[in-house]
Amino acid sequence: MWRATVLTIFPGMFPGPLADSLAGKARLKRLWSLDAVDIRDFALDRHRMVDDTPAGGGPGMIVKADVLARAIDAVASDDRPRLLMSPRGVPLTQARVRELAAGAGLVAVCGRFEGVDERVIAKRGLIEVSIGDYVLSGGEIAAMVLIDACVRLIPGVMGKQASAIDESFSGGLLEYPQFTKPPSWEGATIPEVLLSGDHGRVAAWRQAEAERITKERRPDLWAAYDAAIRKVRKGVTEDSSDST
Ligand code: SAH
Repeated sequence: MWRATVLTIFPGMFPGPLADSLAGKARLKRLWSLDAVDIRDFALDRHRMVDDTPAGGGPGMIVKADVLARAIDAVASDDRPRLLMSPRGVPLTQARVRELAAGAGLVAVCGRFEGVDERVIAKRGLIEVSIGDYVLSGGEIAAMVLIDACVRLIPGVMGKQASAIDESFSGGLLEYPQFTKPPSWEGATIPEVLLSGDHGRVAAWRQAEAERITKERRPDLWAAYDAAIRKVRKGVTEDSSDST
């Protein structure tokens, strides 16, 4: 079973939205599990302090290294990757999500306040992961985003596994436009090709639309896709010239 362990000072936020819909049903079916661990339980002082003032001065508070390390040592001593939710981290991608979903699970550490003591990141081998270039007030929502993205890829969670193959990012492109009945709505019709029943033409139309939308909206993704396609084509021509 795929296991997520979340370390947080707000365990009450979990499972939160992960209790509903796809992820929630899959959890009831025991396709994955979630443990929210209260970092505060590992504070040893009378006031159960988890944070302290920053060395060198400045605003805010910093999560203490010793408290967080004790929490990690108590609940995450297996070989699942230990991820620290952090705006400084490697931006999360669908490729990374796929990798994580294929593994045994993950440990997500949620920062709060101004962040966590740098020493615990190094000593406990925390991998910093960002969900985007903006700052949240804590790592909990970021951890939910990460877990949600992984859980839907666990075999058996999504109704049709095919829906994960075609969707945005999977082939390096954004998804093509989708339509459902009725064929005409407020004067807008569904592209004729989608009603043709010709699977070949439908596939070609979807590919062309995915390319158009990616080119328009995400020149960065398009450049990477284009380079990858050129490389494959070059490989193919080289292979065929080798064999002659
Ligand atoms: N002072 C820090 C921000 C702290 S925000 C800085 O400038 O880097 C508090 C916590 O929210 C962080 O420790 C992290 O766990 C979480 N967080 C904020 N933005 C995030 C993002 N984009 N991705 C992942 N986690 C984030």
